[in-house]
Amino acid sequence: MKMLKPIVGIILGLCAWSTSTVFAQSGDQILDGIGETGLIARYTFEENAKDWSRNNLHGTIEGSEYNFVDDKVFDKVLSLPGDGKAFITIPGEMLAGEESLSISGWVYLRSSEGGAPLFDFGKNGKSSFIATPAATDGFVAQVCTENNTYTASAEAIALNEWNHVVVVINVPTKSFSTYVNGTLVREVKDVDVELKQLFDSRKGAAEQFVIGKSLTSDAASLDAKLHDFRIYRIPLNIRQIGWIHFSARHPEEAEELLRNRQDPDLPEFSESTPQLYNEYLTSVPTVEVETEVGFLPRLPRFVKGVYSNNFQGPDVRVLWPAPEDNKEVLSAGKYAVTGRVAGTDIQPKAIVTVVEHDHDHTAPHRTLEAFDLNEVELTEDVHDHETKFVENRDKFVDGLLETNPDAFLYMFRNAFGQEQPAGAEPLGVWDSQETKLRGHATGHYLSALAQAYSSAAYDPAIQAKLAGKMEYMVNTLYELSQLSGTPKTTGEESVADPLAVPPGPGKAGFDSDLTETGIRTDYWNWGKGFISAYPPDQFIMLEHGAKYGTDNDKVWAPYYTLHKILAGLMDIYEVSGNEKALDIVEGMGDWVHARLSVLPTETLISIWNTYIAGEFGGMNEALARLSRLTDDKNYLETAKLFDNIRVFFGDADHSHGLAKNVDMFRGLHANQHIPQIMGALEIYRDSQEPEYFDIADNFWNKATGDYMYSIGGVAGARNPANAECFTAEPATLYENGFAVGGQNETCATYNMLKLSRNLFLYNQQAELMDYYERGLYNHILASVAEDSPANTYHVPLRAGSVKQFSNAHMDGFTCCNGTALESNTKLQNSIYFKSADNDALYVNLYVPSTLKWTDKNVTVTQTTAYPKEDNTTLTINGSGKFDLNVRVPHWATDGFYVTVNGKKEEVKAEPGTYLAISRKWKDGDKVELRMPFRFYLEPVMDQQNVASLFYGPVLLAAQEEGPRKEWRKVTLDAEDISKSISGDPEKLEFEIDGVVYKPFYETYGRHSVYLDVILK
Ligand SMILES: [Zn+2]
Repeated sequence: MKMLKPIVGIILGLCAWSTSTVFAQSGDQILDGIGETGLIARYTFEENAKDWSRNNLHGTIEGSEYNFVDDKVFDKVLSLPGDGKAFITIPGEMLAGEESLSISGWVYLRSSEGGAPLFDFGKNGKSSFIATPAATDGFVAQVCTENNTYTASAEAIALNEWNHVVVVINVPTKSFSTYVNGTLVREVKDVDVELKQLFDSRKGAAEQFVIGKSLTSDAASLDAKLHDFRIYRIPLNIRQIGWIHFSARHPEEAEELLRNRQDPDLPEFSESTPQLYNEYLTSVPTVEVETEVGFLPRLPRFVKGVYSNNFQGPDVRVLWPAPEDNKEVLSAGKYAVTGRVAGTDIQPKAIVTVVEHDHDHTAPHRTLEAFDLNEVELTEDVHDHETKFVENRDKFVDGLLETNPDAFLYMFRNAFGQEQPAGAEPLGVWDSQETKLRGHATGHYLSALAQAYSSAAYDPAIQAKLAGKMEYMVNTLYELSQLSGTPKTTGEESVADPLAVPPGPGKAGFDSDLTETGIRTDYWNWGKGFISAYPPDQFIMLEHGAKYGTDNDKVWAPYYTLHKILAGLMDIYEVSGNEKALDIVEGMGDWVHARLSVLPTETLISIWNTYIAGEFGGMNEALARLSRLTDDKNYLETAKLFDNIRVFFGDADHSHGLAKNVDMFRGLHANQHIPQIMGALEIYRDSQEPEYFDIADNFWNKATGDYMYSIGGVAGARNPANAECFTAEPATLYENGFAVGGQNETCATYNMLKLSRNLFLYNQQAELMDYYERGLYNHILASVAEDSPANTYHVPLRAGSVKQFSNAHMDGFTCCNGTALESNTKLQNSIYFKSADNDALYVNLYVPSTLKWTDKNVTVTQTTAYPKEDNTTLTINGSGKFDLNVRVPHWATDGFYVTVNGKKEEVKAEPGTYLAISRKWKDGDKVELRMPFRFYLEPVMDQQNVASLFYGPVLLAAQEEGPRKEWRKVTLDAEDISKSISGDPEKLEFEIDGVVYKPFYETYGRHSVYLDVILK
């Protein structure tokens, strides 16, 4: 990855390692070049056993005979006395659902008598993972299961000096290794173990993770000093381990080294490996494209190719260069662009004509509207079977009914210094006491309650319960928000002006201390209208340049959390009419406006480009929406204060950026930026400034065209080293993507779907809803556990991986557990749209459902078993003239057949378009649509033999017996791949060479979503 150039003297906070100037010792654990998402917990042991990762898995030091002592190398370290009295325990749930594991730590042994372990993790004496630096046997690491013991022993490590030791259990490669001081000292192969054999990861499981002592014996404990003990969920490779070892003592040089690092952890292919149909390709004709001055052209990603021997191959994916500015199009004229095709020497050409623009730039109007959730009901399929949609909806609605709102209010009351009601328990994970993102789940919860309430029109009893929860939530939050900036008791002093908020009582400055004893609760000083689950300090610190981290001078993402809360309140306002909900949002909107509107633009650019800290979710979207709900243009102006100027406009002069079709988001954190783009579209809705539409439209085109995996996810970078980022360069998924340990963050697809449907309301391009179908079936439906509402964070797409689900009981939320609450309470929201003038109906998705088109007094019932069958029936009750626009999916190349009341209609249906059926509809009219499914491959653009298999809209995953290191090899018939596949389309269960393939959304075991395909 290229290093980023500073703009207006500001360090751009992109993915963690690219901007790293502060290193491990500061507690900035994300900046270690491996990527925060791989880290489970980190104990620096400088002054306590706190977890410095964002997961807050704090350890406890047992006993009293320990000290934090000065150290020549690492300043302050933990000293354990070795008399059996002091050791550290860490929380049992930390390894829930992990696949592989790496432990890294610095140890200074003073004695290795007695055989005390460095660590001992396990559920009992029979199953454990233990490492012991003993004097006689050397350094011994062992994995013991009921059936096997694997030992990776090494030379004894030197006494009375610091040693860096790492132990890795790599489940996919079935290996177990030890490293000392950056060098591999032992590797054991053919290790047949899964972590669940070793650990009981239930929340509250008995003490089973101990550092400095044995789990089974009380006798020995470690006589040593400890520093920087880390637990990773990924199998660290030699380079990463070398990096941790080196950077601890040479931070500056390490940064330079890191820039040039490549991870060797993805299978590589030789240049001569055939890349599917490209093997038969002979040429690609030159294309001609026109663009206007200033705007980079949209070059066609797929061009019709010429194949040898009249072979009918698919359109060819051309990889064009992707400039980071618009220099080439600053004046009228012609220029040529040369592209390439993966696996060939062919260099396709595009001739670009740049023309002056001779008209006012315009963008489309929002001509369509979505239906309210209560107008569309999900139903059973045509054979009376429950669909995945109903199943997942019910898991979440049932889960929501079980929740206690006091859990979601806990940290709000805590921040305002209020008593907790009897029985109130705090949430865990990212909403726990000291987590600087606390309150984020509450925002999602508000949205979910509103959506579930509206959706549950089918059951008034459920609606009544949800209405009660909504009202209680809003009333409590309203009371708290009214406290802000008003005297505690009449006559006492208070600070109403948001700009005059002082530091907390007795504090010299602002801090993000949220501990029970350290948190400020002087709400009367917080300015009128303030609401959050923490005091205002994080917002204020951000204005002064605070970075992301867990120290008290660092922040997480205050505006990200706020966006969820404001959006949730507006969702409740819109379904319930509860004015208090809107009042809270207006109050906080005013507070935000007061603070941000006085900041210089340079400061705003700096804040919004700060990694994670400046992540603001869709604050721009929320404020634009507030402006519309209140008809107050001031909030629209506040929304624009959140413009990500660099990404939107290139620079402060608005030279290029997405507004001019320049990709300025490569290498950035995906889910940080997608909601900002949705915000740009929402600003366009009310401002009608066309650049904002272009930003959203260009972003969508690039994100889905250049960064998308087959399930619809867009994040997963190996370069930069953060699985939550877009790849460092566009159209390089194989070169820079497929991060180890997880790829597609589920939130990002939630946000891409939201953006896609909203763009479609302006611009009825079928590709938008084709994408929607892909992401909905193959990621969102696929992200929920089989028998609970537990759901995925990253969805791993490497060979033989397995999905990990969490939050079955809705009591501990990551970001993705939050968006899952929303996704699964609005699964029906994009099946149908209507034109704003009620003259047209759009049927976007083929899902069993009933639409009550209230404005038209028409009901449309869709009966189908799709995607288990390739047809659907729309029955119209009521009457009226309207266009029925049905989506002809991009993959429906084997025809699209329409009958009306049993009579065949002669239609010309192009795949990837909408087909309009216009008539005066009568009560009982029936429209039947049939679109034969076919098998097809979706290759990775830069390594085309690595491809996913689809059947119609459904991604088929190979069901794997165990972990895998290599992609599954599959040989398919070159002329017709279906000849190599057998099975039952109505069950969507197929077989190739004896291996079973099932929809990814029905896959819960190990899977291969990508295959290594050879055509014969
Ligand atoms: Zn997420």
